[in-house]
Amino acid sequence: MAKKTIKINFDTGWDLAPAPESTGHIQINNKYDLFIGGKWVKPSSGKYFETTNPADEQKLALIAEANAKDVDKAVKAARKAYDTVWSKMPAKERGKYIYRIARLIQEKAREFAVIETLDGGKPIRESRDIDIPLAAAHFFYYAGWADKLEYAFPNRKPKSLGVAGQITPWNFPLLMAAWKIAPALATGNTVVLKPAETTSLTALKLAEVIKETGLPDGVVNIVTGAGETGAAIVNHNDIDKIAFTGSTGVGKIIQNAIAGTNKKATLELGGKAANIIFEDAPLDQAVEGIINGIFFNQGHVCCAGSRLFIQESVYDIVIRKLKDRMESLIIGNPLDKNTDVGAINSKEQLTTINKYIKIGKEEGAEIYQPNCALPKNGYWCKPTLFTGVSQSSRIVQEEIFGPVLAIQTFRTVAEVIDKANNTPFGLSAGVWTDKGSKMFNVTSQLNAGIVWGNTYNKFDPTSPFGGYKESGFGREGGLHGLKAYLKF
Ligand code: NAP
Ligand code: MG
Repeated sequence: MAKKTIKINFDTGWDLAPAPESTGHIQINNKYDLFIGGKWVKPSSGKYFETTNPADEQKLALIAEANAKDVDKAVKAARKAYDTVWSKMPAKERGKYIYRIARLIQEKAREFAVIETLDGGKPIRESRDIDIPLAAAHFFYYAGWADKLEYAFPNRKPKSLGVAGQITPWNFPLLMAAWKIAPALATGNTVVLKPAETTSLTALKLAEVIKETGLPDGVVNIVTGAGETGAAIVNHNDIDKIAFTGSTGVGKIIQNAIAGTNKKATLELGGKAANIIFEDAPLDQAVEGIINGIFFNQGHVCCAGSRLFIQESVYDIVIRKLKDRMESLIIGNPLDKNTDVGAINSKEQLTTINKYIKIGKEEGAEIYQPNCALPKNGYWCKPTLFTGVSQSSRIVQEEIFGPVLAIQTFRTVAEVIDKANNTPFGLSAGVWTDKGSKMFNVTSQLNAGIVWGNTYNKFDPTSPFGGYKESGFGREGGLHGLKAYLKF
């Protein structure tokens, strides 16, 4: 297949000294087929779609569109690999392949990071320092468990499920693939994975890595496409488990579709996290955490701290510090190592975010955006803060998945716990206080799967991740993540 080098022509109209990461070392094919049974296979419809760079709207590559027939091929390949090789292989040998995947991701980390940033619009600092190292860490972590399952679950004789259908979103493309593939392989399952339509490239690069490791054909299959491709996986009758990360809306469709079948499922869905600042908190650290929690990665984080609760006595000072910090955020070329806020992932997502900003204004909230220029091409949104919102405001209740922060005040602990829990979601939360007893009291009363104390958006392969209520069910990461791919 022809290889090409991507050249970026980025004009932000700013006079900051640029520090762009080079793209000379990466290889993106002009066209990608489906990765089925260890081979690159043309889509049966012959159809391909474009993937573009949301920061400048330039085309990056053509990606195959898989239909139900292709998905069937992939599931058959996965079943064959499960029956004939993978479920029979000694666990120690399975672990070696997973270690190899981890090492190759590390070796190619720079290339993965640049491609992630090009395809998805996130700052290179994030893909380089968070997405890619964490993806490798997940493979390392689960490789270690492969031959120790009986110690992880003593006296329970864990068995693999079979073929796992996995569907991922566009905000952490490679990392989400790692969260799903690594535990599935470690527990002896085979995989059919569909990445999100707008960010398939790093999953396809991962397919190249997987081929390079010599993993037996069909153990991991990667089929690209849009929602219908995902639905074909969900509805295939030879899939044993669905692992889905995405919106609550699609999660509900999936849950309906698999009701009455034997398919197991884990659903990691939307969120509307509360970040709570008490008057005794280290305020500068808290402000940095708030900014990190909602504005870095453009708010494209399911666990983004999109609701902020400030104790009344420190309201004015926190708002001033937040606004000052927002003025210093660097928005622009995601490949620039200084960039804090990159591009919105797609035109559709930008339209959604702008719709909510309009709703916020119409609801009477007061808006604040920093005084910065946005690049001319591509999809961009200024970090946005709303004050004067109420609990019933739509921008407080609904997931926006963009850099929009809705701020409220509170006086007492009981009041803020009530307010923070007053949401259909229950994925994550953050608490900022200097008092250990208050931290323990508040964190234990928040209905959220992940609660950070005096920090935010910290991830680790050993700790489980997942939500309550409309944020889904099941956990990924840690021992909990293994359990979701086993029967006892
Ligand atoms: P989405 O629209 O639900 O899409 C997620 C994935 O599902 C994509 O691969 C999508 O394909 C596919 N899909 C769409 N319709 C489908 C269907 N009917 N059946 C099966 N698959 C289908 O979500 P998104 O907009 O990509 O991602 C943002 C959402 O993900 C947010 O709500 C966010 O909170 C959530 N999220 C949650 C977590 C978590 O761990 N809880 C982590 C990250 C993101 P295409 O995109 O190709 O159409
Ligand atoms: Mg793209």
